[in-house]
Amino acid sequence: MGHENTGYVYDFGSKVHNISKNDPVILFPYITKGYCLNCRKGNDMFCTEDPYMPGIDANGGYAEFMKTKIRAVVSLPKSIKNDDLINMAPLADAGITAYHAIKKVYPLIIPDSTVIVFGVGGLGHIAIQIIKSMTAAKIIAIDISQEKLELAKKYGADFTLLFSNNHDIIKECMKFTHNNGANIVFDFVGENNSTEYSLKLVKKQGTVVVVGYGGIFKESTFDLIIREINIIGSLTGTYSEFTELIQMYLDGKIKVETQRFNLREAAKADELLKNGKIQGRAVLVP
Ligand SMILES: [Zn+2]
Repeated sequence: MGHENTGYVYDFGSKVHNISKNDPVILFPYITKGYCLNCRKGNDMFCTEDPYMPGIDANGGYAEFMKTKIRAVVSLPKSIKNDDLINMAPLADAGITAYHAIKKVYPLIIPDSTVIVFGVGGLGHIAIQIIKSMTAAKIIAIDISQEKLELAKKYGADFTLLFSNNHDIIKECMKFTHNNGANIVFDFVGENNSTEYSLKLVKKQGTVVVVGYGGIFKESTFDLIIREINIIGSLTGTYSEFTELIQMYLDGKIKVETQRFNLREAAKADELLKNGKIQGRAVLVP
């Protein structure tokens, strides 16, 4: 386990020349050979030559040491503080996934547009900051937890909606958007009716970007065409996007909310995560 990793180089093979021992590094989430067309385009997530993700398909960062390939290693400034190195770990999947989703529809996020961030977890709280930093859009954050909505406000959400039986979030969203709905909905939940709500919250000719998963998309084709709704899937991101995102962090444009645990507390961190008690992202520190 452990697919979002930063650390210091401990050792490397004789054919590796571009890193030194103790260099601070962040790891791209996929390990690929880099020769197929998709890899050459930077789309390693669609590698056709047996890609794998440490932490999911192989042993990952729930350890004091982990093995990787040089292609996945992205060097960070040697002057980086250990505190930042720990906080940056979630950029390796949560961050890059949020950034890629936003970059996909970036030209559509014009000034005077409204963007919904559905789910203010590890991805959502970073997404809010990226949108805030790169666009002039108004941001509506939706979550089932009031605490997470407070986090959303802290990081720049203009309006928050508590997803609960007592709240008609569609009515409140329509009021905020003068009965138009949102230009873009980023669905970082992807289950528990979020897809159904996303389609109701988006405006005519608007776009729903599906990032979270687990649920089923059900919508009448008539409704999609009569309102010209775009639905886009989004998966992790590219190397170049990864470096852009890292630069945003280094420039202080985005922060990562982390709750730190000792490696021995991994089970406790997992339990808190399952119960929705983690603010931002949990990070294990060996
Ligand atoms: Zn490849």
